[in-house]
Amino acid sequence: MRVLSGIQPTGRFHWGNYFGAIQQYIDLQDEDEAYYFIANLHGLTTIRDPDLLRQYTHDAALDLLALGLDPGRATLFVQSDVPQVSELTWLLMTGTPMGLLERCHAFKEKKEKGLTAEAGLFTYPVLMAADILAYDSNIVPVGADQVQHIEVCRDLARSFNHHFGDVFVIPEAQVLKSAAKVPGTDGEKMSKGYDNTIEVFEEIAAQRKKIMRIPTDSRPLEDPKDPDQDHLFQLYSLFADPDQREQMAATYRAGGFGYGEVKKKLAEVAELFFAEARARRATLEKDPDYVSGVLKDGAERARTKASEVLARVQQACGMRQ
Ligand code: ATP
Ligand code: MG
Repeated sequence: MRVLSGIQPTGRFHWGNYFGAIQQYIDLQDEDEAYYFIANLHGLTTIRDPDLLRQYTHDAALDLLALGLDPGRATLFVQSDVPQVSELTWLLMTGTPMGLLERCHAFKEKKEKGLTAEAGLFTYPVLMAADILAYDSNIVPVGADQVQHIEVCRDLARSFNHHFGDVFVIPEAQVLKSAAKVPGTDGEKMSKGYDNTIEVFEEIAAQRKKIMRIPTDSRPLEDPKDPDQDHLFQLYSLFADPDQREQMAATYRAGGFGYGEVKKKLAEVAELFFAEARARRATLEKDPDYVSGVLKDGAERARTKASEVLARVQQACGMRQ
């Protein structure tokens, strides 16, 4: 089984990224082969400041390594270090129906808001399909928001195969039920683009403040509350063990508590949960050469695989004699 996933350097990683995606990366890195990349070509559609994009790309590598990604077991690389993927994007684009992309939510939402979209945002799912297909990936661990894009990838691969022969491996999305859509501080999907994130490696005092400021409903203290309707409870559940979770749910149902108590508990469990990774990150931060070495190594391995797949595709569609 070959596992692949990417994450955009469009800001610092948040709890949604960790529980929805990164945790799966770590768990799956013992599969036959695991490829994880920092999606800077995708990121360029959002971040137009070159120094900031470079900084976020470096931070992303540091964060992933600190969180347990092991370059001995997985290939970690930067997307733009594998130009084969950009060429594959074009080959796929030649057969991509406009309607398929018009239905994709990132573009649709922007259009519905009356904003103008760039071609990069419109064709984003094709680049993502190339990212996946370039490594013959079987499994793509992601959050629920990416399932539609993986469906597009499967469609494009199937139709290419139908036309040119059996060229592509058809991938499958893998979504964790417990963290498919982690809510942000406003109850909407936590997203780097929405200003509703709690970052994994945010400075502790700032993080605590942010948690204490999460808006909650204004029902009286004594009212019983439904834990499943509350995003604070959902966030707490990410960190809590089953006993802690059940205890907290019982507190909600009984009523007679303040949300402030839940927030304090949430801050405590979160701090503890990431303490080790935080320490590892501090050590890694002092060794930028190690990090760039990991990425260079990863890029070489990724290019080897992507070149092999691209050659197969070029042959199939008449780009090679
Ligand atoms: P952006 O706002 O720039 O799109 P993002 O926060 O959505 O950033 P991505 O880089 O697009 O992050 O996504 C990286 C991975 O994290 C994807 O697999 C995505 O499904 C997952 N993910 C992002 N947000 C959440 C969330 N709130 N809950 C679960 N998974 C998430
Ligand atoms: Mg996203």
